[in-house]
Amino acid sequence: MAARTAITDPYAIYEDPAFDIARKQFAAISQHLNIPADEGDRLLLPKRAITVSVPVHLDDDSTAVFTGYRVQHHLTMGPTKGGTRFAPNLTLGETAALSIWMSWKCALANLPYGGAKGGVCCDPRKLSLRELEGVSRRYMQEMIPFVGPHTDVMGPDMGTGEQVMAWFMDTYSMYVGHSVNAIVTGKPTYLGGSVGRKESTGRGVAFLAERALDVLKIDPTGKTVIVQGFGNVGSIAAASLYYKTQMKITGISDHTCAFYDAKGLPFEKFEKHMESNRDLSNFDGAPRIDPGEMILQPCEVLIPAAVEAVIDGDNAGRLQCRVLAEGANGPTTPAADAILDQRWDEIFVVPDILCNAGGVIVSYFEWVQDLQSLFWNESEVADKLFRILDASFQQVVRRAKAEKISHRLAALAIAVERVRKAKNTRGLFP
Ligand code: GLU
Repeated sequence: MAARTAITDPYAIYEDPAFDIARKQFAAISQHLNIPADEGDRLLLPKRAITVSVPVHLDDDSTAVFTGYRVQHHLTMGPTKGGTRFAPNLTLGETAALSIWMSWKCALANLPYGGAKGGVCCDPRKLSLRELEGVSRRYMQEMIPFVGPHTDVMGPDMGTGEQVMAWFMDTYSMYVGHSVNAIVTGKPTYLGGSVGRKESTGRGVAFLAERALDVLKIDPTGKTVIVQGFGNVGSIAAASLYYKTQMKITGISDHTCAFYDAKGLPFEKFEKHMESNRDLSNFDGAPRIDPGEMILQPCEVLIPAAVEAVIDGDNAGRLQCRVLAEGANGPTTPAADAILDQRWDEIFVVPDILCNAGGVIVSYFEWVQDLQSLFWNESEVADKLFRILDASFQQVVRRAKAEKISHRLAALAIAVERVRKAKNTRGLFP
């Protein structure tokens, strides 16, 4: 009988458009850093990819089985760290791509973590609070063999927040028999959460958008901002630029609709609306626009703060922003990057792994505070956060200039080099 010779493509299980973006970005960086293919595989392929069935009792007494994932990208520099996404079309490949971006994000910020990402393929908007609790608790329970405060630390992402993190912490703590607040970050402050964690991603995006305007010598006062996505990241970034920096918010969208007014939107009304509504679908206080058109309107700062691949080969040539501040993970495809590379003197890109790193940086602070049971105040958190972001920003801009490469390539180069060096110095076991 013929011996089995087929070697399965180790990338096959991750097939997905988002993974394709992460892989192509890595191919570009491998070429730039001369990383041989075998070493590249070791750097790029996730260490662990876990898929679980999450059976849950629904309110109508039936049961439903949801699929949950957790991908731990590398364990070279400490525990893995990353958010948990509850979204209807979540796939293993997308989760893997997000875990890879978390690795580069943590390395760029010099956090002692590898990247991870997880989530459940479900629509949290269609679940009752009790059902959401069921999904959250059972998902964490299924993950207990694979996580721990020194193994893998979950945090929030799209579709999850403080309440889900509290259920995760409770489920894990009930299992081990004592409270383990360092098992997750993004908890309420009264359960070991850090002050400023909820606002950290959005505030970081705003801080870096301002840093970019500063490099371009543009005075931000009265200048315009368009924000795609009005969740935790987009709304806080916009609020910070509106109230603190006195910029004008001219475009706002969420997954249901978009609004645009060149004279400036009534930002307070949007905030008020979101206090008692889940989305902007029935907001009628501003003129509407096609969501695809909104991001093409002229502005100083464009913030994609929603999902992946919204800036692609079709629209990148028509963007009219001066700064593209990537609040989302993976919002820009490699085809768009090729166009943005040509437009480098028109559009200043603040790449995702730099721009939205504020969230995981304050998650790191939260973990450190939990492990020490010693808590910091708001100004300590903010000061440390902005110091790290500013240092990363300067390193990226300097490297891009020196090597005449894009900010994305520069950010990835710094991050991948750090992980590569750590892996090579530790060596291959056994
Ligand atoms: N979801 C956040 C991100 O994409 C990070 C989650 C965490 O704090 O671990 O960066």
